[in-house]
Amino acid sequence: MKRGLIWFTEDLRVDDNETLCKAILENDEVVPVYFMDHLLEKPWLGIGRVGPQRKEFLLQALQSLKKELVARGGDLLVVEGSSLTHLPLLCKQFGIRKVYTKKQVGSEEKFRQNVLRKEVLALGIDFETYSTSTLYHPEDLPFSVRDIPLLFTKFRKLAEKECKVREPFNAPERLAVPIFDSNIPSFGASRTPEWMVGGELEAMKRLKHFVWESKALLSYKETRDQLDGLDYSSKFSAWLSHGCISPRRIYQEIKIFEREFKANESTYWLVFELLWRDFFRFSFKKYPTAYFQRKGLHEQAPFEYFDSEKFEQWKLGKTKESLINAGMNELRETGFVSNRMRQILASYWVYGLEQDWRFGAAWFEYCLVDYDVASNWGNWAYIAGVGNDNRGGRIFNIQKQEEYFDKTEAYRKRWANHSG
Ligand SMILES: Cc1cc2nc3c(=O)[nH]c(=O)nc-3n(C[C@H](O)[C@H](O)[C@H](O)COP(=O)(O)OP(=O)(O)OC[C@H]3O[C@@H](n4cnc5c(N)ncnc54)[C@H](O)[C@@H]3O)c2cc1C
Repeated sequence: MKRGLIWFTEDLRVDDNETLCKAILENDEVVPVYFMDHLLEKPWLGIGRVGPQRKEFLLQALQSLKKELVARGGDLLVVEGSSLTHLPLLCKQFGIRKVYTKKQVGSEEKFRQNVLRKEVLALGIDFETYSTSTLYHPEDLPFSVRDIPLLFTKFRKLAEKECKVREPFNAPERLAVPIFDSNIPSFGASRTPEWMVGGELEAMKRLKHFVWESKALLSYKETRDQLDGLDYSSKFSAWLSHGCISPRRIYQEIKIFEREFKANESTYWLVFELLWRDFFRFSFKKYPTAYFQRKGLHEQAPFEYFDSEKFEQWKLGKTKESLINAGMNELRETGFVSNRMRQILASYWVYGLEQDWRFGAAWFEYCLVDYDVASNWGNWAYIAGVGNDNRGGRIFNIQKQEEYFDKTEAYRKRWANHSG
């Protein structure tokens, strides 16, 4: 009997999941496992790592994955402890011959994966990783990831010219698993927006809505900078970050829409934004630890101060700027803010309050449901002027932003006076 172990991480789906497909193909039985590694991570810079909204979304995503696996004759084993302790034990318990998992980009996650790879190989068990979270497969890039350009535009032009997006894998029809206990722990409810429910089914529903039902995709380029509302942007991020949907599946849907209905600048622009996501992920492979340093990818760092009182005021929406307070209230309460608001909040922390940018990034890490190591730290470093850019940082003038994006003050009124 050949048995493989599928170690799920940020790929909580059955659709377009090469890791899962390969494991099923090569084995008689598989053991699909998820470890609660992220919930066990120690605070960084004194800030916790996973807030209540992301925990809830994760739980929903796990329940959904379990349902999909059960419907195919399988199941999901959710282990509340760390992979470092439990993965080797499970390999022994189930007589595993090979471990299948997604390639990691974050330095902590990579470290964990490498430690386990060595340990498992020493037991005589194979260990294979797959790149399943980007639009372009890293092997298809016209350069090695070590030579990725510093600037997005150069990366995009080279990639668009030379690469093709691979076809997504279809979800497997059946899988066989040995018997195990499969309870998913509960974390208690939070105040996420109604539309933000974890899981593959919800991700597919949102894709269908944004592309076909509302056709909001057709005006995405014009609306994407708004602060408030459901359809001004895709809202795919939390599902992408947890791997409930793959960027290739989104791409394929956009291409079908373009063929059958209409293609315009907006339909292209969503792909363009997915390339930003790819860009940060590939850049992280090149610089696995630099994005967490104050200097980032550059020689000179911006402000090095950290004033805990200013941090509390910023976190709790108690600064002298009503737009910042509204954004911080929305972020803390829902785990989401628009891209424009993220830029404004980050710029204010770095240039308005003149603080070490990494504390701001760590707070976003705690709050965001769509937290993604590469997109969060990459964007923060970019705004702080130490990331993938040569032009210095990005300073957003708050009064101008209010005038452009919140003229009627609707956003500020909606999120004013929220308690901490
Ligand atoms: C300071 C800061 C921190 C951020 N932290 C995160 C994070 O932790 N996780 C995260 O997914 N995004 C992050 N972003 C990027 C972006 O703000 C969100 O992806 C976007 O707001 C999510 O909403 P949406 O899905 O409706 O995006 P849309 O505008 O509909 O974009 C579609 C998809 O493209 C990708 N994308 C769009 N913009 C960016 C970008 N600038 N960088 C990378 N990918 C992008 C996302 O996957 C997004 O879901 C951050 C941006 C800033 C300025």
